[in-house]
Amino acid sequence: MTSTQQSQFDQTPVVLLVDDSEFVHRLLNARLKTESISIVSAVNGEEGLKLAKEQLPALILLDLEMPVMDGFETLRQLMEDPATRNIPVIVLSGQDTTQDKVTAFDLGASDFVSKPFELTELRARLRSALRISTLLRMLEQRAQIDGLTGLYNRSHFDMRWKEVYESSIRHGKSLSLVMIDIDNFKSVNDTFGHPAGDAVISGMSNLLHTHLRASDIACRYGGEEFALILPDTTPEDAKGLCERIRIACEEICWPRHPERKITISMGISGCVEGPTLQSMEWIEHVDANLYQAKERGRNRIVCDQTKGQLVKLPKAG
Ligand code: GH3
Ligand code: MG
Ligand code: MG
Ligand code: MG
Repeated sequence: MTSTQQSQFDQTPVVLLVDDSEFVHRLLNARLKTESISIVSAVNGEEGLKLAKEQLPALILLDLEMPVMDGFETLRQLMEDPATRNIPVIVLSGQDTTQDKVTAFDLGASDFVSKPFELTELRARLRSALRISTLLRMLEQRAQIDGLTGLYNRSHFDMRWKEVYESSIRHGKSLSLVMIDIDNFKSVNDTFGHPAGDAVISGMSNLLHTHLRASDIACRYGGEEFALILPDTTPEDAKGLCERIRIACEEICWPRHPERKITISMGISGCVEGPTLQSMEWIEHVDANLYQAKERGRNRIVCDQTKGQLVKLPKAG
């Protein structure tokens, strides 16, 4: 795990309190002061949903009886949205009925606390839910990280490419996609052994980190192949960046085989004012550019700007 990925676990956890009672907000803000959490407040379900999506809190405390949108409906919508589905929810309720508890747990609540609160118990339940929340987040993140390089893996690429691609359509913004393949890598393994090959693959991840911005997304796409998603980047700028990476790679002196240089080939395709290719077509197009770079002799870049009509997102609903 990189330091940026680790840091979100070191931050003070955000707890979203959704309750229409001002008294409850005052009480919990005062009594949970010692808990090293940061409380964000919402006074109805609608506001709670909005804040949950924006802040992705570590935990939600959710009142059942509220005007506008009650706790059950809020919980239903939280569980329907993949972005908020895994946030633990402790339901708070003035009605201590078995049916309410069963409904809340069936809808996906993690815990149920009756009002008036026994504050020591609420604190203990809150800590327990936060522990689970941290573990869930770590598991979720580990599942997206490649073990050898610490880069994002293919499954993360698939998810982020879709998101960034759609955002580029929505905002009519530039976007570039890059595929990188290490040249003649099989012969590195064959000549110097697999551990030396592994060292080259993880060295590539350091090289990429040195050159990329925080908003760029670097993934290990497969064996010795990498993909870069570069939001807000024209193909021309992507080409400049990739040229710097290509040269820097060529200049590395590898401790295990100082006499053997490693080179990379890259395919790039980008748009300036929003995508003109469907997302899968775009990946195929970049792959074809990478293939061209190999055909033309390796250690080079083939880059173009996607052409055609701007792609539109289908209307929601
Ligand atoms: P080209 O220039 O055409 O890309 O040639 P190449 O030799 O790089 O391509 P090829 O696809 O023939 O070989 C890729 C090699 O990468 C084969 C595979 O054994 C090796 N490889 C894939 N994943 C790993 C890994 O995690 N570690 C090591 N050491 N080798 C790997
Ligand atoms: Mg209420
Ligand atoms: Mg390959
Ligand atoms: Mg290769």
